[in-house]
Amino acid sequence: MGAEAETGPTRDLLCHDCDLVHAHVELERGEKAVCTRCGSLLARGVHEVAARTFSFALASLVLLIVANVFPFMEFKIAGRVQVARITTGVTQLWKDGYPELSCMVAFTSVVAPLVMLVGLLMASGPMLVGHRHPWMRSVGKVIGRLKAWSMMEVFLLGVIVSAIKLSQMADIVFGPALFAFLVLIVTSTAAVAVYDPPTFWDYLDGRDAA
Ligand SMILES: [Zn+2]
Repeated sequence: MGAEAETGPTRDLLCHDCDLVHAHVELERGEKAVCTRCGSLLARGVHEVAARTFSFALASLVLLIVANVFPFMEFKIAGRVQVARITTGVTQLWKDGYPELSCMVAFTSVVAPLVMLVGLLMASGPMLVGHRHPWMRSVGKVIGRLKAWSMMEVFLLGVIVSAIKLSQMADIVFGPALFAFLVLIVTSTAAVAVYDPPTFWDYLDGRDAA
């Protein structure tokens, strides 16, 4: 149990399952901290956090590229085939006179996730090989700010609703981008979940064994 509630930069570890407070411990490579009462995971070592974040972020980046390059879905209406990509939605909104909405969709479903994933790679890559760079602080701050702006699942919900509406008048064929997008939502959520900001800042401050 942590004797003091809060002493400077040292932070206590709280078990999210049973609320037991543990004193902060330094973790060596490959080690993890578990709750002494219920056995839940409290924290992972720097190397493990970095390796997991990097893998999920890299996979997500590849999927994001696939999701933007390939067709999302195809509509077949009276012999005509219309291919829809993520960019189609953005440009169509702009053409229809909704520039703000168009920018919002582009930002939340493409730009924010892209910057976020590149940021996670830039934060976890050097951690993985034991490097510290001054610019990593800025990267950490950008990741913190962008978390709230990455809303790919909202975009997907919009796509599903429009697909259901359109299915009454057109044949819809789902494209590879949709499947890439579905997996991307899972992997990018995982990347954000395993990236542990306190571990990252402790590492930059040299408070953790690399
Ligand atoms: Zn516990």
